[in-house]
Amino acid sequence: MARSLSGLTTLRVGGEPRLLLEPATRDEIVDAALETWASGEEWLLLGGGSNTVMADEGFDGTVIRIRSSGIAEIPSDRADRLRLRVEAGHDWDALVAYSVSLGLSGIEALSGIPGSVGAAPVQNIGAYGQEMAETLVAVDFLDYLDGEVVRLSADELELGYRWSALKGGRQGVVLAVEFDLTPGGAAPVRYAQLANALGVELGTAVDPAATREAVLGLRASKGMVLDAADPDTASAGSFFTNPIVSAAFAADLPEGAPRFPVSASALPDRVVPLDGSGGSLQVDPVPREAPQVKLSAAWLIEHAGISRGFRLPGSSAAISSKHTLALTNQGGATADQIAELARYVQTRVLAEFGVFLHPEPVLVGVSL
Ligand SMILES: Cc1cc2nc3c(=O)[nH]c(=O)nc-3n(C[C@H](O)[C@H](O)[C@H](O)COP(=O)(O)OP(=O)(O)OC[C@H]3O[C@@H](n4cnc5c(N)ncnc54)[C@H](O)[C@@H]3O)c2cc1C
Repeated sequence: MARSLSGLTTLRVGGEPRLLLEPATRDEIVDAALETWASGEEWLLLGGGSNTVMADEGFDGTVIRIRSSGIAEIPSDRADRLRLRVEAGHDWDALVAYSVSLGLSGIEALSGIPGSVGAAPVQNIGAYGQEMAETLVAVDFLDYLDGEVVRLSADELELGYRWSALKGGRQGVVLAVEFDLTPGGAAPVRYAQLANALGVELGTAVDPAATREAVLGLRASKGMVLDAADPDTASAGSFFTNPIVSAAFAADLPEGAPRFPVSASALPDRVVPLDGSGGSLQVDPVPREAPQVKLSAAWLIEHAGISRGFRLPGSSAAISSKHTLALTNQGGATADQIAELARYVQTRVLAEFGVFLHPEPVLVGVSL
């Protein structure tokens, strides 16, 4: 009897899969994947289920839930780094705790992010001024195209803002991830809110253990650390990415709208110019070469009139009471209710600011 996917995802929605496999070693993962691929069945990988929205109808195919674990120290080609190879099913935050306990810096600001190490490169997880692209060296990857295990470098993964080639459609299984971390402690704080919480100036070098503690505190205050007793944490984290728009478009937004510079390589989002759209919804992306700006999705949602705790009549899906960007299951919500709320938020923000909000989690059988 298959287990319901609602029990395997942090948003707690989703019906049953046709088949659930839970390989716990690298060899078992390879066997499970190759057998499933050979069968021609639909298939889906799952780690901690913290970035996946599963349909109420379940999944008509095989879900391979990666359960491997283990951390090994291996030689780094950089004298000033220590390299860790971590199995894909290893709990992400357990890895961060381990690295901090060794006095290593590089991933301490990513404390408290739920999920598995193998899923972390899929959207290049990031928080509080760090993202995994800064320390990831390579992954071992079972390639769907030929069933071979290859080593993919960080460059080949094309890591960007909440993006990678894996999210872009390169199919296969991450079996292990290698990181180069910095021994010997203190690393500069690059996020104003974190610097504030630590009581230091931006750029001050801080011990990774202190950074971890401050990040965990900040995250808990926003309902961004899983807590079975708190329905505000029954979410997929931030439900929308921060939109990337041209500087020209951003200049037309209200004065208080936060705007952050981004690298030219980031993929722009769709926008409707606020003036001169002539009533037609022309939502082409701005050219990649134009100077770009990252907006705050949370600010756009709040200023489109949707406040914390908001829910549609009769629905058990709600905006978190602690964080506008998290769509939550307040108890018994369906995937349809989550999608309905997401569409409502998108429509309000598009109507108010001309910006199309993109969902951050992976939607399986759910469309917005
Ligand atoms: C409370 C909360 C807070 C969060 N905060 C953050 C945050 O601050 N920053 C951030 O970036 N994210 C955040 N997230 C999102 C999420 O935790 C991360 O994206 C995490 O990396 C997902 O890991 P997972 O194992 O749960 O992925 P899953 O949801 O199980 O899978 C996500 C995707 O990865 C694929 N996948 C899983 N394992 C593998 C594998 N081994 N090989 C290839 N593909 C695989 C799946 O098929 C799916 O497409 C948050 C989520 C929650 C619930």
